Amino acid sequence: MAPGRQIDSDGVSGPDTIFALSTAPGRSGVAVVRISGPKSRTALAALGGPADLEARRAVLADLRSPEDGEAIDRALVLWFPKPHSFTGEDVAELHLHGGPVVVRAALEALAGRDGLRPAEPGEFTRRAFDHGKLDLSEVEGLADLIAAETEAQRRQALRQMRGALSDLTEHWRHRLLSALAQLEAAIDFPDEDLPPDGWAQAKALMSHAKTDISQYLKEAPLGERLRHGYHIAIVGPPNVGKSSLLNALADRDVAIVAETAGTTRDAIEVHLDLGGYPVTLVDTAGLRDELTAAGGGAVEAEGMRRARARAEGADLKLVVADLGDWPNLDPDAEGLIDEQAVVVLNKADLAPAPTAPLHRGRPLFAVSAREGTGLTALVDDLRDRVTADLGVTGAAPVLTRVRHRRALEDCRDGLGRALTVDDVALAAEDLRLAIRALGRITGRVDVEDLLDVLFKEFCIGK
Ligand code: GDP
Repeated sequence: MAPGRQIDSDGVSGPDTIFALSTAPGRSGVAVVRISGPKSRTALAALGGPADLEARRAVLADLRSPEDGEAIDRALVLWFPKPHSFTGEDVAELHLHGGPVVVRAALEALAGRDGLRPAEPGEFTRRAFDHGKLDLSEVEGLADLIAAETEAQRRQALRQMRGALSDLTEHWRHRLLSALAQLEAAIDFPDEDLPPDGWAQAKALMSHAKTDISQYLKEAPLGERLRHGYHIAIVGPPNVGKSSLLNALADRDVAIVAETAGTTRDAIEVHLDLGGYPVTLVDTAGLRDELTAAGGGAVEAEGMRRARARAEGADLKLVVADLGDWPNLDPDAEGLIDEQAVVVLNKADLAPAPTAPLHRGRPLFAVSAREGTGLTALVDDLRDRVTADLGVTGAAPVLTRVRHRRALEDCRDGLGRALTVDDVALAAEDLRLAIRALGRITGRVDVEDLLDVLFKEFCIGK
């Protein structure tokens, strides 16, 4: 017997019926408990749900413990018979009053039922995937939608959940399968009266798809960045006020601000919403010669190593220096200024600010993290930069993960090979690999069955 399946008292085998609180734990107006599997209906009935449940219609019910008949809650119950449910199985929903004790009583009552068990993390979605309700990229879209922190992320995730990426890959897959059918026909029926331009037609389809895919690959980094957030690293020598600046920008106390140098041991992240775009602000440990720092402790040295790595991968660097040093900035700060840098001179409350808008060609801002002066201009500038870098003019990008990019790159490369070989059998093999790579995006890798369907469209004569 496969794990996750069970045989009930009637000797009927089927998947486990699972249940879980689907809304956030804690106190709330309403809490939704979802039940999915063959025993959803009987479980609902055992709790006192009405016998004559109508599909997808909310009904008020007095739920009781099946053990002792103790009232649990007056709740709204909904019934979604398969296959028209989120998971594709029979699903029942209990809309309880959102008190933790109410929820606990309902969950305990369900746990006591034969054949029911609490769901594992992600199991409802897993079942939706297994029953073809969502494909892999739609599952990812759903996960991203729930995790979205800004408007731009929400738009992108919603688009993916609703199948934008699936539709696109299916479109390519169908065209490539037609091309494959042409090639297969030439291989399997070399003596038949096939249209002489079959090979040319296949090439045209492949080359068109390759151009299209390459175009989408160009905007892949944008989609990935939108999903992960735009990274801004705050770097600079110790004690210039990096942590204070992070706090001031985030307007919350997340980093420890201390008088002694080098108290920020590791990178600290704050997530901001700048103009609807997700921005991750990273405060890094003070950068100083690691050898000197090693005397202060290995932890500090490791912190600095990570800080440098973070700064390397960031989309933008805020290089913070002490305004008191202007115009002779700390060499450590100078060493960090490059094409990705915005220079921030902190502690403007202690010294007069320079009037120059640039330092070594990079934008220059004088601020006081302590008093908040100059921060509005800095934030406005950052917002403009993020919007310019992440700004999507048309529809949101459809490739949002490295996984998608890799699959499309493999597909493109396979097409490239198929287009350059002279042998039709070799071309067909490369094309098959390209189609499989596409299928990885949605989790549909079944080339054969679709090929059968397409193949039937060909008039091979006999
Ligand atoms: P970090 O090591 O670069 O992260 O620096 P911290 O944020 O820990 O700040 C170092 C010291 O500078 C602390 O004593 C802060 O209170 C002080 N400090 C930070 N920002 C300002 C500022 O704008 N003005 C003044 N006067 N002091 C500041």
